[in-house]
Amino acid sequence: MTDDGALQRAYQHARAFLNTLSDRPVGPPVPAQALTSLTGPLPENGTDPAEVIDGLVRGAEPGLVASAGPRYFGFVIGGSLPAALAADWLTSAWDQNAGLYVISPAAAVIEDVAASWVLDILGLPATSSVGFVTGGMMANFTALASARHEVLARVGWDVEERGLIGAPPVRVVIGEEAHVTVARSLGLLGLGRARVTRVPADEQGRMRAGPVREALASHAGPTIVCAQAGNVNTGAFDPFDEIADAAREHGAWLHIDGAFGLWAAASPALRPLVSGATRADSWALDAHKWLNVPYDNGIAVVAHPQPHRAAMSMTAAYLMRSSGDARDPSDWVPESSRRARGVTVYAALRTLGRRGVADLVERDCGLAVHMADTLRQTSGIEILNEVVLNQVLVRFHPRGAGEADALTRAVISRVQQEGTCWTGGTTWHGLAAMRISVSGWSTTREDIARSAAAITTAYARERERTSGG
Ligand SMILES: *Cc1c(COP(=O)(O)O)cnc(C)c1O
Repeated sequence: MTDDGALQRAYQHARAFLNTLSDRPVGPPVPAQALTSLTGPLPENGTDPAEVIDGLVRGAEPGLVASAGPRYFGFVIGGSLPAALAADWLTSAWDQNAGLYVISPAAAVIEDVAASWVLDILGLPATSSVGFVTGGMMANFTALASARHEVLARVGWDVEERGLIGAPPVRVVIGEEAHVTVARSLGLLGLGRARVTRVPADEQGRMRAGPVREALASHAGPTIVCAQAGNVNTGAFDPFDEIADAAREHGAWLHIDGAFGLWAAASPALRPLVSGATRADSWALDAHKWLNVPYDNGIAVVAHPQPHRAAMSMTAAYLMRSSGDARDPSDWVPESSRRARGVTVYAALRTLGRRGVADLVERDCGLAVHMADTLRQTSGIEILNEVVLNQVLVRFHPRGAGEADALTRAVISRVQQEGTCWTGGTTWHGLAAMRISVSGWSTTREDIARSAAAITTAYARERERTSGG
């Protein structure tokens, strides 16, 4: 056994952090000057491991954000379930290279099991292939690479071997509300961020099925359609059944970016929201958002293992590829050597069970509705979206004539400074809005009440200030 002083210190510091997580100010971002004790020249000589850990914690402390805590509502950010966090520590301690079965049978089998559980809980085809990637971005990338392979293979073009230069053109149809990582993935895949047909969305941000149908009808040849489960502003879902009908009719590959929204499929009560989503050809999911496992963790699911594998796998004599049933995790992801990130997904699903995942998702959605209902009681506060999931858009109106955009931004800034909770901002259909996402496993009704009170107080203060008294 080597000296475990550093591990002991890390455990103590981690416990201290976690024990204060629900109480610490969620807080504004600090300027980089607050973190100067982390800086300095590269040391010539080494330092004792435990001392390194102590110094790291001391230096990082002022810049740590309680985003894993119960009152962080910015972006779409979950915390870490205790079992998932503990499994993450073990993943590091084991330090398995989860690229190939031969390097870590345990990691390969754990990920295989976690993959089958993910498919089961979401009601996705059991024969789908699954890759555990770093996040929703890479899940989109991986799924769309599989799509690119398949639609070009159907016209006799091997895109991995021959590239895109000289290839038959691929038409990509996406909603105007598609997440930025879809465009970024398309850019990386050589399909172009802007070389897409953008289909208009309705007032809740749902891609309209009619224009999808029209776009598909106006073009023959390789086509990919990207739909979305869970708009990052409103939480809305695209009409998958109609889009799937159109895609099927025209032989297009249908991909669904369901980074957080697809988890609604785990809940019998919410499943109608994703109706038709199982008919897609691929799906992108995050585990580090709503499943509440630590970063970094996304899941790419493809209904057709062959193009998925063709797009991702590599061969070399020394790699000692597995045969038979053994699964080489790197066949399904862009990485070669990789962290066994499916281990935390395994732990989260095992600790929650089917019922627990449904409870988590339903609870957060209920809390989002509770937040919206509470805020709505104050006159001048408007909820801009239908709260169908875990996302709430809030707008703040001045007493008399005045600028609701400016006031809304001022309220967001005041809430962020005050530190009870943290909410982000956005622009929705040209209107400034506060954006609230309830995605954590530990948020309670009490947290919502406290946060709503902080928000209404900030609103009252800002309204007084801007109305001059
Ligand atoms: C967060 C998100 C992504 C990107 O996921 P990362 O985990 O940040 O890479 C993609 N699509 C949607 C809808 C998201 O909410």
